[in-house]
Amino acid sequence: MHHPRIVTTIAELREALAASGSVGLVPTMGALHDGHLAHVARARELVDTVVVSIFVNPLQFGPNEDYLRYPRDLEADAAKLADADLIFAPEPAEMYPNGAIETRITAGRVGDTFEGRSRPGHFDGVLTVVAKLLNIVGPRVVTFGEKDAQQAFLVERMIRDLDIPTRVELIPIVREDDDLAMSSRNRYLSDRERVAARALSRALEAAESSADRGIDAVIAASQSVVMGEPLVELDYFAIVDPATFQPVDDGYRGPARAIIAARVGSTRLIDNTRLRLG
Ligand code: AMP
Repeated sequence: MHHPRIVTTIAELREALAASGSVGLVPTMGALHDGHLAHVARARELVDTVVVSIFVNPLQFGPNEDYLRYPRDLEADAAKLADADLIFAPEPAEMYPNGAIETRITAGRVGDTFEGRSRPGHFDGVLTVVAKLLNIVGPRVVTFGEKDAQQAFLVERMIRDLDIPTRVELIPIVREDDDLAMSSRNRYLSDRERVAARALSRALEAAESSADRGIDAVIAASQSVVMGEPLVELDYFAIVDPATFQPVDDGYRGPARAIIAARVGSTRLIDNTRLRLG
């Protein structure tokens, strides 16, 4: 079996990429699951050399979040990446040699809504590390998951705004057999919480099946699913315009995305789906 080479420094990575044809980057924080592997498989179809970055970025975690307990297992991750050519797994000191970084990308107003409202500074941290990774790797294509729809929206906008010569390839959400969206954080769930967590995808299914009756029907249908599950504490449910990531107005018709975030026990989960409001 083929094994990707693991590199931990920027200099080593640049050297390894010197004569590698077209490059695709799959940015991850590790704790890899089949959702991540779908990115690698898609990148494999698009470019000559596939780089997977594995970096738990301290800049995108708030002070009370799970930065320290976020699962890290480079060996197990590498064993799943037979389809990749290179793994870039830097230590924080390689990415942020002066400790805190002074220069940052700001995600703007959309960065303060939804995930950004619950996680102040999160998207500035994400965009800053993504900009660094794009500058380090110089990929033709970078993959982002629809699972993190707001993140994908903000990265695509940053790439346009800053004229970065990389194209975003969006990867559909990969789900467990019972439709829970795969996430590295699912492993935090107890057995009871794991069952309750299905309410997120069920709420989105309810949203889809009432979409032709308009926004109020969608909100009522999905809320009643979440209310029926006492272990699930809703953070937000919203219908956004895919072009702006702003909530749609009453009476809106057309393509939209339903987004949901909830706390299940101490674990925060997100999910979303595309809809057409009728
Ligand atoms: P992370 O899980 O934060 O390391 O995410 C790394 C990349 O994988 C991001 O682009 C995510 O959107 C994507 N991703 C995470 N979960 C899934 C999933 N269930 N299906 C597809 N892509 C995913």
